[in-house]
Amino acid sequence: MRDRHSATEAHPLGPAERRVVERAETEGIELVRFLYVDHGGVIRGKATSRFRLSERLDSGIGHTVAMMAMNMLDQLQEVEHLGPVGEVRIVPDATTFVPLPYAPGAAAMLADLRQIDGSPWPACPRTFLREAIAALAEEGHAAVAAFEPEFTLGRRMPDPAGGLDRLVPADDSLCYATTGFDQAHDYTMHLIRALETQGLRVEHYHPELGHGQQELSIRHAPAMRAADNHVIYRETVRGVASRMSMWASLAPKPLADQAGNGAHLHLSLWDPELRTNSFGDAEGRYGLSTTAYRFIGGLIAHLPALTALTCGSVNSFRRLAPRMWSSAYACYGMDNREAAVRICSPLSRNAEAAANLEIKPSDSSANPYLSLGAVIHAGLDGIRRELDPGEAVNVDPATLPEGTVPRLPATLDEALDALEADDVLMRALGPLRSSAYLAVKRSEARAFAAEDDSYELFHHFRVF
Ligand code: GLU
Ligand code: MG
Repeated sequence: MRDRHSATEAHPLGPAERRVVERAETEGIELVRFLYVDHGGVIRGKATSRFRLSERLDSGIGHTVAMMAMNMLDQLQEVEHLGPVGEVRIVPDATTFVPLPYAPGAAAMLADLRQIDGSPWPACPRTFLREAIAALAEEGHAAVAAFEPEFTLGRRMPDPAGGLDRLVPADDSLCYATTGFDQAHDYTMHLIRALETQGLRVEHYHPELGHGQQELSIRHAPAMRAADNHVIYRETVRGVASRMSMWASLAPKPLADQAGNGAHLHLSLWDPELRTNSFGDAEGRYGLSTTAYRFIGGLIAHLPALTALTCGSVNSFRRLAPRMWSSAYACYGMDNREAAVRICSPLSRNAEAAANLEIKPSDSSANPYLSLGAVIHAGLDGIRRELDPGEAVNVDPATLPEGTVPRLPATLDEALDALEADDVLMRALGPLRSSAYLAVKRSEARAFAAEDDSYELFHHFRVF
């Protein structure tokens, strides 16, 4: 039944919202998806027709609070305040509007989950990142970031033995090998064009170590934009593949015997006007400032707990193994691919402006808003408490006597234990978000522990 709320009763729209309505009309958009990322790391949403767009830009779309208690297997968890009673609104950010090149007639916007009165909802992930950015701004810094994702390109095939579908990689090319460029070429071109038309600037591309593995990086952006970009990226990688009857997976380890897919997080701090990189200092050790070292100090101190948010799935911990360049050790190093935090040698002549950290225990099964927000809170704690990260580890930590460098958590449950014991991150998450996140993630750990490897691999390549 039509509700009585008519377009004329809605609030007058702001300029960004008006532009969205105009673009939807002129670009033939029939359906606009309002997207958010849940505690399972899954991108979900609801869509409005163009007819309802101007109203829904203002009101959002109604949604049950319970969805933030849903895990990646669509199993609803019992979490106080996230039961069957209660609604939030999926309220889109009009500045993120993008027509979807892989879904003609549809567009998308990234959204906040808001309370019915329009105020922020304590379980909204985008709000969590916004609060982290605001806390950082109080210390005089702005974060610039980029996720650097890898994914596996292939086809989803039925198992001849009647079991769960398998992901069959599109090629068996060698790492950075030109045969890989050729075999994935048509897909890559579609992907690049689709990303560029959505405003994501592609930086580099190469086929990587694992069969079917691709790495395509995107230019950095202010923190909120970087997280939004990563959602658009995940959607596009999979959407383009699906249009070509292929299957692309950003799961951390979709193929047990192949290299994993990271989404290394590159990050630097800048002054509020984004003019000067506060991590760069030509006089500092490895070209980094005291602020950068304190930030690293915060990251190292919180790493075990952080991995529960940056490596958010059971499958994540299959990837975090030594000698896979994915990082398995809680240390930092200069251009060290086995260290959790890599100081990157600058590519640009302007070394101070290019200074950035690469956080390697990070993958695309994480909720990017929670992950980047938590990284900011951890680094900020290092700045506030002036934490010293100790010496850089500039060798493969696996070659050092055991125990010299602490290992990262080996399972999701271990990481969740560390998160529960981490006062800074638990306080930043707040009671509703932390209890929901822990309930959802503990339930995933339990569900996968009860099944075999193929069940875990299947569900992760299916969802991520
Ligand atoms: N595939 C590796 C990972 O899981 C990263 C390899 C690289 O350094 O690009 O993180
Ligand atoms: Mg790579």
